Amino acid sequence: MDTCIFCKIANREIPANKIYEDESIVAFHDINPAAPVHFLVIPKLHIDSLADADERHRDLLGRMLVLAPRLAKEQGCNDGFRAIINTGRIGGQEVFHLHLHIIGGHQRLPGMIHHG
Ligand code: 5GP
Ligand code: ZN
Repeated sequence: MDTCIFCKIANREIPANKIYEDESIVAFHDINPAAPVHFLVIPKLHIDSLADADERHRDLLGRMLVLAPRLAKEQGCNDGFRAIINTGRIGGQEVFHLHLHIIGGHQRLPGMIHHG
């Protein structure tokens, strides 16, 4: 995926403020944080969205989810955080390379869905 911004981050073609990397996963701070802690966990493999994940990605997705609380704690989330995967148009996804948002800080986060 030559034009995908998160592939470029995974391939080190563009910089990111990384907090974790292994052979299949990268985590980095969101460029436009919604809270004091806001980082993204991505697979190095390009998958458009969670809607495109299947059985083959089971292990990869499991590893991303298990990694998230460890990184959240390292980033100072001692009393919880929010994990979000925006998916597709209805989910408000903007970057079409599957990513897990981890959001937290010191204050309780606002409600999930804002009506109106
Ligand atoms: P989405 O709406 O697709 O779930 O979220 C995409 C997220 O990626 C947004 O929170 C946005 O701030 C973040 N983002 C977009 N481009 C970049 C980038 O080049 N670097 C970093 N670190 N984050 C980005
Ligand atoms: Zn990609």
